[in-house]
Amino acid sequence: MTILGCGSAKPTKTTSPSAQLVELSDKTFLVDCGEGVVLTMQKLGIHTSRLYNIFISHLHGDHCFGLIGLLTTLGMLKRTQPMHIYAQPDLERLLTPLLDYHANDRQYDIIFHPINPRKHAVIFEDRTVSVETIPLKHGVPTCGFLFKETHRVKHEDGTFEHVTSKRYAYCTDTMYSEKIVPIIEGVDALYHESTFLESMAKRSKEVKHSTAADAAKIASMAKVGKLILGHYSARVEDHNLFLQEASPIFERTYLAEENLTFEI
Ligand SMILES: [Zn+2]
Ligand SMILES: [Zn+2]
Repeated sequence: MTILGCGSAKPTKTTSPSAQLVELSDKTFLVDCGEGVVLTMQKLGIHTSRLYNIFISHLHGDHCFGLIGLLTTLGMLKRTQPMHIYAQPDLERLLTPLLDYHANDRQYDIIFHPINPRKHAVIFEDRTVSVETIPLKHGVPTCGFLFKETHRVKHEDGTFEHVTSKRYAYCTDTMYSEKIVPIIEGVDALYHESTFLESMAKRSKEVKHSTAADAAKIASMAKVGKLILGHYSARVEDHNLFLQEASPIFERTYLAEENLTFEI
């Protein structure tokens, strides 16, 4: 998993808004698409042609403002492979007039798959990867995504079984919610938002975000392999402060930073 952006709503000099690449079974999924995704990918030397499917957690601008730029650029790059976008239904309504205006000469299809963020369900499945929604608690309808990599095992009697080898959960934006624990139990890696510090806990609840300690409590309860913090408030310049508050609660905690890649 490679971080393209891990800031929150206000962009800063060091953090771009939410976006990350999840690579499983030779497929590259884009999860959230904050402003500037194309530029960030270019800086990192990652070709946009690699993108397979896009998953959008919710329609706050810091998670989807990069879409029109990306989809227009893919048109200019002469993409022909269809692009599938999994998001709540409003996205198609909002994006279609922009695409008609700016990208109507594109040679690839954009296929919207409406999802219900309030329901835990499988929304994508092929031979090796499945993706499930994780209902989250935020100011607008929001869901996280649970990625599962599976492979086929052949038994001696000739029958096949699908075995899950890797699991990765993406949970942002959300306030502290124990309801997600059974869904993400035991995942190899959990990305959980950590917008605020403990000193800002009151504000955190008001705007329905989490503190670093909230994220660590969830990671500990769900017994995950490792916790990656992100979606940092622009008010906190030193991200180590998040780590200092989370690690005593959950030891295997890491900080997301742009351009960092984590093994799932
Ligand atoms: Zn956000
Ligand atoms: Zn949000």
